[in-house]
Amino acid sequence: MKLRKILIAGAGIGGLTLGIALRRLGFEVEIYEKASNLLTIGWGIAVAPNGLLALRHIDLDQPVLQAASTICQVQMKTSAGKKLKEISLGALEARVGGSVVTLNRGELYKIFLEAFGESGLYISNAASGFREEKEQVILTLNNGKEVEGDLLVGADGIRSTIRQQLFPNAELHYSGYTAWRGLSEETNLLSEGIYLSILGRGIRFGCTSLGNKSISWYATYLTSPGQEEVDSPQTLLMKRYQDWCFPVSEIIASTPNSSMKQSDIYDANPLALWSSQRVTLLGDAAHPMTPNMNQGAGQTIEDAIILASLLHKSSTLQEALNLYEYHRIPRTSQIVKQSRKSGKIEHLQNPILWSLRNAIYAWTPVEILLKQLVIVSKFNSALLADSQISN
Ligand SMILES: Cc1cc2nc3c(=O)[nH]c(=O)nc-3n(C[C@H](O)[C@H](O)[C@H](O)COP(=O)(O)OP(=O)(O)OC[C@H]3O[C@@H](n4cnc5c(N)ncnc54)[C@H](O)[C@@H]3O)c2cc1C
Repeated sequence: MKLRKILIAGAGIGGLTLGIALRRLGFEVEIYEKASNLLTIGWGIAVAPNGLLALRHIDLDQPVLQAASTICQVQMKTSAGKKLKEISLGALEARVGGSVVTLNRGELYKIFLEAFGESGLYISNAASGFREEKEQVILTLNNGKEVEGDLLVGADGIRSTIRQQLFPNAELHYSGYTAWRGLSEETNLLSEGIYLSILGRGIRFGCTSLGNKSISWYATYLTSPGQEEVDSPQTLLMKRYQDWCFPVSEIIASTPNSSMKQSDIYDANPLALWSSQRVTLLGDAAHPMTPNMNQGAGQTIEDAIILASLLHKSSTLQEALNLYEYHRIPRTSQIVKQSRKSGKIEHLQNPILWSLRNAIYAWTPVEILLKQLVIVSKFNSALLADSQISN
């Protein structure tokens, strides 16, 4: 199949990965991005093994590994500091062929932007809608311009404008909790390689070291949606997490207010379809998920690599989009549901259920927890067979 030009709305993790993969396969690509500067996006992001394995097909796994810290062990504790579980991730790496890594989101973008280059990337160009015709699709931009292509991919994130037009009834679902993210420069508060998850009642804290640069952390708790009006997030969080075990208050106290950001957590019930004749969705636009399984980036990268490969090897656009939905909707829908469930369990408030949950975590054999992790962390590269993207 020969497509002349592919338009992508959104230069996030998904839009850039797709753009890079399509270019390598010889497609002409244009990416339209709402933001004026992508490199200001900071905070830590954990990339799951399946994300790294998919990036290997466009030779970006090594640059990401070099910029990242590898997580070797997950430690789970109660807010009083009682150990619930320690899971060594060596066994996961041995079984799936890749590791879990964390890095600054800005560094990840730097790698993607360097690989894509400046040509074909139009920042400060927000998509406002599209029009489908028999032979082409026309993307309309907020600045009044129109651009035409053979296919439009909506990779414009959780509040996707493209999804809203394609599936007007699809609604976001509030998880019940908000998340603060932060970066502390007190790197001696946590050893590199540890992912620490601390569970209170209806409240949680997690952190991991980004090597000698910073400690990346998140703080999530049950509350109604809507950003809190606070002068000092640090004061707010110090109060919420007072009396928590080391190193929670130390990490919050060493994080300046300017290095903290709040996001209410949403997902959406899985869609049955992602595409029309000449428009499809990818990443958070297609399957918004809560971040409890650290799979948002991994699934988005998988979408991009598989869609590029299918566009290259299918005989018609319709065939490529049908196969894309066939391979991606079941897997991502499962993870959306699992992640929602895991968020509910991790924010239990009822004291009896809370104690029961902690006992289950403490007594569940590591092997069972690992088995579940292995299933989501595998990347099925057999789907890329017969495509030049396969390495
Ligand atoms: C608090 C929090 C923590 C998270 N932590 C992790 C983690 O550790 N690991 C993980 O795997 N995932 C994590 N995620 C999820 C992860 O960030 C997303 O799944 C991932 O970024 C999805 O990539 P994307 O390209 O689909 O969307 P995005 O990365 O959101 O990119 C969308 C892009 O589209 C642009 N855009 C928006 N509207 C328009 C428009 N109208 N026109 C043009 N451009 C537009 C945006 O500016 C943006 O650049 C987290 C999410 C949250 C909220």
